[in-house]
Amino acid sequence: MTYVLPDLPYDYSALEPHYQAENLELHHSKHHAAYVAGANTTLERLEDARAAQDYSGLVGLEKTLAFNVSGHVLHSLFWNNLSPDGGGQPEGELAAAIDEHFGSFDALRAQLSQAAVLVQGSGWGALAFEPLSRRLMVEQIYDHHANLVHGAVPLLVFDVWEHAYYLQYHNVRADFVNALWEVVNWPDVAARFARAQTAALA
Ligand code: MN
Repeated sequence: MTYVLPDLPYDYSALEPHYQAENLELHHSKHHAAYVAGANTTLERLEDARAAQDYSGLVGLEKTLAFNVSGHVLHSLFWNNLSPDGGGQPEGELAAAIDEHFGSFDALRAQLSQAAVLVQGSGWGALAFEPLSRRLMVEQIYDHHANLVHGAVPLLVFDVWEHAYYLQYHNVRADFVNALWEVVNWPDVAARFARAQTAALA
């Protein structure tokens, strides 16, 4: 298997009350697991297509690959972006870059929150580093793999699919997004920012 479901870096109850254990367990053990299985199955089907030299189903397989691999990547990032010791604000170089590119932490928080809350249907809000301009940007991602800036490295992602929050927050997506800010693992985001700056696109 190319892709494996990672363990969470904390217990299912560790993020309570911000993230209810039952909702988090379903999200990780069922939803994330389905993307992992889907990614592996799609790679096998592509191998079969190459062996048979039958590309009649290729368009669907490429879409399914992008959907499932992107879902796996974003969920793997999301779990590590959260921590029972999280919350507050970033420090150091990340804080300085946020001030430079958004004006203030509060401005970033407002834009990223709204990007997440205003997703039509299923998607994500993301803070990303774009290597050509070396700027931080907020992305509004549809499903797991649409509306992306190519090559931008996601640093902090908020899952706003209904499966992420409906059990605990029902229809009030904004309350879930506000709760996520209380458990953001800023040292993790800062470490991703430091690594992203070594990326070169052109
Ligand atoms: Mn999800």
